[in-house]
Amino acid sequence: MKSSEVKNVNPGGRIVVKKFGGTSVGTLERIEKVAERVLRDQKDKGQNPVLVVSAMSGETNRLVRMANDLDPYYRGPAYDMLLASGEQVAIALLTISLAKRGAKAMPLLGYQLGIQTDSVFSKARIKSIDVKKLRDAVDHGFIPVIAGFQGVTRNRQITTLGRGGSDTSAVAVAAAIGASECEIYTDVPAVFSADPRLVPKARELKTITFEEMMEMASVGSKVLHFRAVEIAAKYGIKIHSRSSFEDREGTWVVAEDNMLENPVVSSVTHDPSTVVIQLYPVPEGVAFLADVFGRLAEKNIVVDIITQSIGDRGQRLNFSIPEEDLGQTELTLKEVLKKETEVSIMKDMAKISVIGVGMKNHPGVAARFFKVFKEQNVNVHLVTTSDIKISAVVGKIDLKKAAEALHSEFSLDV
Ligand code: ADP
Ligand code: ASP
Ligand code: MG
Repeated sequence: MKSSEVKNVNPGGRIVVKKFGGTSVGTLERIEKVAERVLRDQKDKGQNPVLVVSAMSGETNRLVRMANDLDPYYRGPAYDMLLASGEQVAIALLTISLAKRGAKAMPLLGYQLGIQTDSVFSKARIKSIDVKKLRDAVDHGFIPVIAGFQGVTRNRQITTLGRGGSDTSAVAVAAAIGASECEIYTDVPAVFSADPRLVPKARELKTITFEEMMEMASVGSKVLHFRAVEIAAKYGIKIHSRSSFEDREGTWVVAEDNMLENPVVSSVTHDPSTVVIQLYPVPEGVAFLADVFGRLAEKNIVVDIITQSIGDRGQRLNFSIPEEDLGQTELTLKEVLKKETEVSIMKDMAKISVIGVGMKNHPGVAARFFKVFKEQNVNVHLVTTSDIKISAVVGKIDLKKAAEALHSEFSLDV
């Protein structure tokens, strides 16, 4: 690109990274709205926008279904290549829409921007971004329109960052270019005290700490991707999670010292994609556990909650995993289990958690947590805690009533 060709629209203007999720670009009409809004902010607020875009809503699910229909056990380069194609369509369409309005926009796939990742397919982590290319584009008046969710290995293979990973692309881009904020536009106006689709009385949070948001993301709230919050915390980037349909402030994810007060529990979070695996009987002792969990770890499967108990036929082992890792987990178990071990897979499970940094200084949260399950007659299958979280795995059928009752118990209802 020649510098004489295009001038920077806002020389010295603030670079603002804006990420648009699947629903925000779900139709051509929505894409046009995004283009209008970006250009309006560019003009009125003197911003230099850098855009990160997800696939149109439903598209990644459609691609996953096709791959699974062919072979539910396949994971590798072709799977990532397939999934990454959704973002390519979205950035091309948004670029066309911006160009139609006279803007200079530059569509960039992960490999074109040098978003280098490790080679863990489907769960790759970003190692570096070619920031010079990005800066040049902005300095020459272009709006970079970057494909979220994807990167490239050193061997030039396309990788993806895990479901919901476009948030992480956006925060990584913000960190690379030295922006202090990253706007995440989505289909809800804020981060709420629970998923508003499950708990209608959920309230909007004005602010939430990195620590709480990370915990929420790690136990299944998909409003922000875990790695996005982790990178934001590390580089001190404020995340502003906001509506792509309304022009108003949403939630700021910030460091704890920016918080005015810390409620004991700030959110009730659920994960409907939890699978519980029961193995019975298994060999006693840690050698077997080390073997099973070692093999799962080699495949980058995160085992969440583990419990052991003794039955009349010997040792019983239960653990939970994300639903998307079931195929790989089954393959791994086939390698290690003896014939006599029965494997039962409970798919109709969900995890429910309460989270709050205030929990550190307030005793009695666990007691209130279990009291709710008792009152609601909800059976708890697995439990785990950290200093700011308690999680339980329950039947999916009980999820809504348990979530609503916990939300009310911890005085979060609007
Ligand atoms: P996008 O495609 O924009 O990335 P996602 O579907 O990944 O959007 O994330 C937004 C969704 O997250 C919301 O539609 C909402 O149902 C869900 N969600 C889960 N927990 C929360 C929460 N605590 N606050 C807001 N939304 C939540
Ligand atoms: N399109 C990808 C997904 O659906 C990435 C994202 O939306 O963040 O998981
Ligand atoms: Mg998302």
